[in-house]
Amino acid sequence: MVKKAKKSESAAKKTVGKSAAKGTVSAWQDDPSSKLPPISRPIPDLGKGPLKYKFKGSAIKPGIYALGTPEFRYWTAAEALRRGGDFWAPLLGVKHWQPGPILPVSLDKGVDLNAYYDRTELAFFHEAVGGKTIYSGESPDVVCHEMGHACLDAHRPELFDAPFIEAGAFHESFGDMSAILSALQLQSVRAAALATVKSYKASPLSRCAEQLGWALRQVAPSAVDRDCLRDAYNAFKYVDPQTLPDDAPATKLCAEVHSFSRVFTGAFYEVLSGMLKIRSSNPSQADLGVVATALAQLLMDATTAAPVQPDYFAQVASHMIDADTVRFAGKYRSALVATFVKRLIVPKSAVQALVAHKGKISGKAAFGMTALAAPPAKPQIQKVVLSGREFGLADKPLLVPAPSEQKPFLMVAAALAHRHTGPDTVQQATHRFVKMLFAHNRVDTESNAKKLAVTAATPRDKLRKTHILLESKQGFTLTRRLFHCGCGVPRND
Ligand SMILES: [Zn+2]
Repeated sequence: MVKKAKKSESAAKKTVGKSAAKGTVSAWQDDPSSKLPPISRPIPDLGKGPLKYKFKGSAIKPGIYALGTPEFRYWTAAEALRRGGDFWAPLLGVKHWQPGPILPVSLDKGVDLNAYYDRTELAFFHEAVGGKTIYSGESPDVVCHEMGHACLDAHRPELFDAPFIEAGAFHESFGDMSAILSALQLQSVRAAALATVKSYKASPLSRCAEQLGWALRQVAPSAVDRDCLRDAYNAFKYVDPQTLPDDAPATKLCAEVHSFSRVFTGAFYEVLSGMLKIRSSNPSQADLGVVATALAQLLMDATTAAPVQPDYFAQVASHMIDADTVRFAGKYRSALVATFVKRLIVPKSAVQALVAHKGKISGKAAFGMTALAAPPAKPQIQKVVLSGREFGLADKPLLVPAPSEQKPFLMVAAALAHRHTGPDTVQQATHRFVKMLFAHNRVDTESNAKKLAVTAATPRDKLRKTHILLESKQGFTLTRRLFHCGCGVPRND
């Protein structure tokens, strides 16, 4: 192994500056297994504001390095993070990360098929599977998924600890949407994906994390899609997660947040295709870039305005329809409405009110923009009390703080107001979420510490605990520790 590492280091050095234009690095465009070759990119500046990064460990001199070397992985991760950060920065309502002005990054935290964001850093891992070592930080899909968690957390921090399946699943969906939108910042990806987005088909763009998906398939064949980790080209329709099982093979939906996230990501990719067709009957790659930014803007407007509630998918989707009315005078309404209604995310009855508004929209625009831009009032916190005994916690209660937000509603969103959740709905949704977490062994019931001191020897099951129980006199309080990339495939070792 040592010999092999030395050999790749020397190969890497040989290639420095060999065929590259000055001031460039070599990086993957999408995923290492997406079949899109590496390209030359301007040297990314990790310290560029407003969304700055800092890689832990020694810096590596920019250059063109051979595939498979640590130097190549360093610069491909840096390029993806800079590209994604530069895309999201002007769209976010804030100019800094949740942890502060600089987001630390660990490119190789240890052995696992995993990656996470924990409000202190982005962390990536490696593992040998089927004779090949997979580095999660080498995939721009995985890197931009984790960075997406950090962006959404900066934009809407109330979601981090919201104990609802739809809030957690939306965070996962946002990670995948971030991977797709960040990839679309490359002209070469837009050109390669144009025909498939226009005709609404699967593509390297819709398939997220092909390489990590392959590695997980070697371990648990039914846990991921047949050709990637998760495909945004899917036909999943909304089902109340209260009624879904805790677990299911990847071909079916379950209440686990990564599985359920595919409902929203599927709608997103279909909306992207619909928006492209509305923009032009013969769209160019530049048109694809324009609608990608427009769709990201609608996501930002909607997540600013939508109250964090158990039915969060419907809240975000309805606010996206309203945001399009306000921002683009309803230009993309047919794509949004057709997709969200077909996928049962927004009820048909909610959009009928919108039809009545047709022609009177401009008069509403000023009010709408104000309502969209207004941050929600500071949420009330409902302290949900669950039986500790149900989760093996003896007689102490399990306490779960749940946000309860209210907002002035716009047009379509107002039509959903009757579904507004009371304390009972919040209690039921929280109970379902906690039950799912325990079923997937996601709760750290032992360490009683918010932060996990990760070393190379930390067992993988500990790395995959997304939540922690903090003990007090009143009972155990559930709080989130991290989001990971959905690589929590059950392992026996
Ligand atoms: Zn994730």
